Amino acid sequence: MASPITSMKGMIHRSWNMVRGCTPISPGCDQCYARAQHKAMYSEREHYLIPFSEVTFMPSNISIGHNYIISVNGISDTLHPDITDQQVQFMIDAISKKHGIFVVCTKRPFRASMFDWPPNVWLGTSIEDKNYLYRIDELLKANSKIKFVSFEPMLGPMGEVDLTGIDWVCMGIERGPQARPYRIQWLRQVRDHCIYQGVPLFYRGAHYTRNLRPSDLLDGKIWHQYPCGLEAKDEKYDGKVNRRKSSIQD
Ligand code: SF4
Repeated sequence: MASPITSMKGMIHRSWNMVRGCTPISPGCDQCYARAQHKAMYSEREHYLIPFSEVTFMPSNISIGHNYIISVNGISDTLHPDITDQQVQFMIDAISKKHGIFVVCTKRPFRASMFDWPPNVWLGTSIEDKNYLYRIDELLKANSKIKFVSFEPMLGPMGEVDLTGIDWVCMGIERGPQARPYRIQWLRQVRDHCIYQGVPLFYRGAHYTRNLRPSDLLDGKIWHQYPCGLEAKDEKYDGKVNRRKSSIQD
């Protein structure tokens, strides 16, 4: 699962992929970036010759310090059924021996409560529309210290969302040439839930600035909030939005 981490002040971002490949589980997978990346890399590197649908465990090590934030298995789903409990436990044991923060995002949180997550794991679930809000209930059964929800890609309205027990919310729309349309009301609704329920919100770009950099503005404000007192890096924004590049629908 693509991890929602981006630019945090004082933190160095890295990826750690011990699982490669995945299979779709819901409409949010239709434009899976990991599958697209795999296809693009096909024939370039040995491990990309294995079909994406063949989920493979490839244990590896990573050397990091305290100020690292690591996206774990961003090109797969850590809790995919083809990854055994022992393999998940192997990854958890490896993480528990390290410093830094490890971000694990899954569309299969129903397995999450089977494991003892170390305190340096941020465990999240990805939800594309209100039909999958039950993933929050599954996530809440896990014992991870920090739990987050990633409403990305947002493919429909979320409706009423109870964020009790959730430490962080990320949201974003689908990107790319085949991106499905969205409504800004969907984003506003989640933003308002976060405000009223006191949950930090990270919002990732909807439309594009003149220099084709995604704009993270929502109603004139940037929402780059993180849990645990972490702050966003200073970012400059030119404030110019090119709506022709956008699939936004007011
Ligand atoms: S669960 Fe994530 S990695 Fe797996 S197919 Fe869906 S979007 Fe891709």
